Amino acid sequence: MDDDVLARAARIAADWLESLDVRPVGETAGLEELRERLGGPLPDGPVDPLTVVEELAAAADPGLIGSPGGRYFGFVIGGGLPAAVAADWLTTVWDQNAGLYACSPAASVAEEVAGEWLRELFRLPAGSSYAFVPGCQSAHLTCLAAARHHVLRRAGWNVEERGLAGAPAVRIVVSARRHTTIDRALRLLGFGTASLTVVPADAAGRMDVAALRNALHTGGPAIVCAQAGEVNTGAFDDLSAIADATSAAGAWLHVDGAFGLWVLASPRLRHLAAGAERADSWATDAHKWLNVPYDSGIAFCAHPEPHRAAVSTTADYLVQSGPDGPRDQIDWTPGFSRRARAFPVYAALRSLGRRGVADLVERCCGHARTFAAGLADVPGCEVLGKVVINQVLFRFGDDDTTDRVLRHVVDSGEAWLSGTMAGGRRAIRLSVCNWRTSADDIERTLTAFRRAVAAT
Ligand SMILES: *Cc1c(COP(=O)(O)O)cnc(C)c1O
Repeated sequence: MDDDVLARAARIAADWLESLDVRPVGETAGLEELRERLGGPLPDGPVDPLTVVEELAAAADPGLIGSPGGRYFGFVIGGGLPAAVAADWLTTVWDQNAGLYACSPAASVAEEVAGEWLRELFRLPAGSSYAFVPGCQSAHLTCLAAARHHVLRRAGWNVEERGLAGAPAVRIVVSARRHTTIDRALRLLGFGTASLTVVPADAAGRMDVAALRNALHTGGPAIVCAQAGEVNTGAFDDLSAIADATSAAGAWLHVDGAFGLWVLASPRLRHLAAGAERADSWATDAHKWLNVPYDSGIAFCAHPEPHRAAVSTTADYLVQSGPDGPRDQIDWTPGFSRRARAFPVYAALRSLGRRGVADLVERCCGHARTFAAGLADVPGCEVLGKVVINQVLFRFGDDDTTDRVLRHVVDSGEAWLSGTMAGGRRAIRLSVCNWRTSADDIERTLTAFRRAVAAT
């Protein structure tokens, strides 16, 4: 019985992957049709598992997006490396509650190994702590909770015990072009959006460091959020200059490197994030550029004590090892019961190796440059700014034409991308983040744009 349903699911999964090259990248059914296909009353009695799985796969199919395929360039969405996808299946089947060593010694040790591999890959300081979390959003929450603990502790305030009411003021400095998840993490930590000091950024999205220095002038507890890889342009803040400013002011430096941090794995690209190693905490994703299936993010902290103090928890009924024992994951993540997320990360790193990660990152950047060069020959296309890493930003004349060309390409099913605003006007953004994307995928997408321009 188990065998049947798992073998059938594996067959359906393999067929789906096989179809990615030929099926339209976008969905082929609308909201109403999907509600009809998937809907109906809650069944009164059981349905056999094989039927459930087969019917679910059939009903969902036209509403699935081909984001694991090579011509999906929307947002910043990675694919799934074969080893990582397979390890993720095992993670599901093993069904470990990776909150405590006692609940899964193997998950705890795999996390220790993968965490240390990543730390080494990014060249972060020895002894840094880490946490495997659902995504960069939760990584921000984890890192900024550590930051809050640390800067208030130094001001003589125990925030875990006393909360924020009556606490010394914390100056929080962010860039005008920060990712929205920074605001949400801060909000959840009790730092309202109106309390943020926002420093301007240049057209590419790089923080104005002189303004930052100015904002830190007053001294006192401070947290600075910098960025490695702006979500539209891929631009990097000047992390060296920012680290100079934060260390002079005694401020905590947090880096949002959801995808950009991965340049640190490439000898050719790591100069873009020079100075990153001087930060106090880093947030990144494995589900983006490492091509681990959703969801998978990682928080790193240069200071294990505040990290642990900010998120650890305990209860009489738990079986915990303490600071000198094996790793209990609940000491490091805001999660309690949790998926053994390190297994697929471990598998991804092992299947690629140090060189493979660098190749993947460099190859995606190469595709982005090829795409931008190809676009330059498409009539009416304007590529905005320089391609920094894996992101390309472009438009076709006015807002209306840009949106019409984009819609035409998406409707063709050849590729999936989405729009954004750049300098107050509509633009199209493309992100190459998938190990499957080939030179042929780039050429097919360029052809789709040429056709769209001819047709609109
Ligand atoms: C995607 C992204 C995030 C949020 O990451 P999630 O994994 O979706 O939580 C944060 N910052 C940047 C720059 C991103 O690109």
